[in-house]
Amino acid sequence: MQWETVIGLEVHVQLATRSKIFSGASTAFGAEPNTQACAVDLGLPGVLPVLNEAAVSMAVQFGLAVHAQIPEVSVFDRKNYFYPDLPKGYQTSQMYHPIVGPGEVEVSLEDGSTKSIRIHHAHLEEDAGKSLHEDFHGMTGIDLNRAGTPLLEIVSEPDMRNAKEAAAFLKAIYSIVTYLGISDGNMAEGSMRCDVNVSVRPQGQASLGTRAEVKNVNSFRFVERAIAFEVERQIELIEDGGRVVQETRLYDPERDETRSMRTKEEANDYRYFPCPDLLPVVLDQAYVEHLRGQLPELPADKRARFERELGLSAYDAGVLSASRDMAEYFEEVKNECGDAKQAANWVQGELSGALNRENLLITQSPVSARQLGQLVGRVMDDTISGKAAKQVFQALWNGQGNSADDVIEAQGLKQVTDSGAIEAMIDQVIADSPAQVAQYCDAEPEKRGKMIGYFVGQVMKASRGTANPQQVNGLLKEKLDALL
Ligand code: ADP
Ligand code: MG
Repeated sequence: MQWETVIGLEVHVQLATRSKIFSGASTAFGAEPNTQACAVDLGLPGVLPVLNEAAVSMAVQFGLAVHAQIPEVSVFDRKNYFYPDLPKGYQTSQMYHPIVGPGEVEVSLEDGSTKSIRIHHAHLEEDAGKSLHEDFHGMTGIDLNRAGTPLLEIVSEPDMRNAKEAAAFLKAIYSIVTYLGISDGNMAEGSMRCDVNVSVRPQGQASLGTRAEVKNVNSFRFVERAIAFEVERQIELIEDGGRVVQETRLYDPERDETRSMRTKEEANDYRYFPCPDLLPVVLDQAYVEHLRGQLPELPADKRARFERELGLSAYDAGVLSASRDMAEYFEEVKNECGDAKQAANWVQGELSGALNRENLLITQSPVSARQLGQLVGRVMDDTISGKAAKQVFQALWNGQGNSADDVIEAQGLKQVTDSGAIEAMIDQVIADSPAQVAQYCDAEPEKRGKMIGYFVGQVMKASRGTANPQQVNGLLKEKLDALL
């Protein structure tokens, strides 16, 4: 039997407001426990919430970026449940009238193709506090700093068909929220959290299978792992005559498995009702249009422009537009050296390699975009060879020199294109290598092409990498063939 996987994601994005969604308390990360929760966040009697306009604006910007309908009226509801990190006894959320209606996101897949994933809706809600188990022996600590932090929950339609598509969707959401500047998207710090809904069905069946919801999968890689595990578990279960039950499961990265947490709750378990303390949110058309006018160039548009105007491949355009920081860095390198393709190669090759090795973000790169752009320019105008350029890059990376030109000067890397100087070096190498010359002359003609590599290497070494390799090649061939 052929099985098809169906995946829908619920992504919680922490919005980058300075204060909380319904109070003036700070949202800064990493403060002493319980120093940033006020009476409103704790739901103490007699206090009233006031909606933070910045959270509304950010939610609407997201909606516009995913081509969603923005309803004129949205309403906050209370989702009632008991949990130690929720002292109010309810979470303020939006159940029936979310702030962002149906939309769609274009995601780019590894083979360079794109796929449209529909957004069911996105709604605003507040985060809860945190239970801390580690520092308290036999007890649980409660830190309420996070209580009341604004979240945008983005709910997809079940449009993804494999783990790669799910990861690509999550990356697209990451790109959009970071381009908009409405979240730092940092999954490791919990600014972006994801619940993964997975089901399987026989290939060709129209109705959906029963799903399991895997909670709080907090990295791109874990999303793929959790899905792989779930798909296998569900198929095995069904093939052994069992059935999938609708439940909430937890992904455990250490054991690389999902485990049952609880059976799926229904909406009516939460006794949702409109929050009597908050007015419905009414957005007038002018407000929405004002925000639309201020949207920056978004990832999908940038990617398309990189392909169309700069002639980059779909793959390169996708990588270089994936984050706003990456795109800005690349564009500066390109402007400095004047060649998009070369700029793309250096940013994705030498630079990304070095950043990955040292686990640095592009904003932390020791080599600035301007420095890299100038360096690439020096390769293009033949001042230095590609090999010397790597040496210059390393020197800039290590802080040895302020510019490519400084390093080229200080290390004497200027390429020798004077053919007299190159010929002198070639003559010396030929004189020093009688055995190799004899071998070359005795070899069959079609083998000589390969054997010339030895001599090129020697000349390059003698010139400390500064001789122009094409020139060396051409002159060597002439001189050696004259000896035949
Ligand atoms: P709930 O309100 O119980 O969380 P929803 O119907 O709102 O459930 O769906 C939540 C998420 O689950 C959405 O992202 C949706 O696309 C996804 N989903 C719904 N049904 C399935 C299914 N059968 N298989 C996979 N994903 C599903
Ligand atoms: Mg849900």
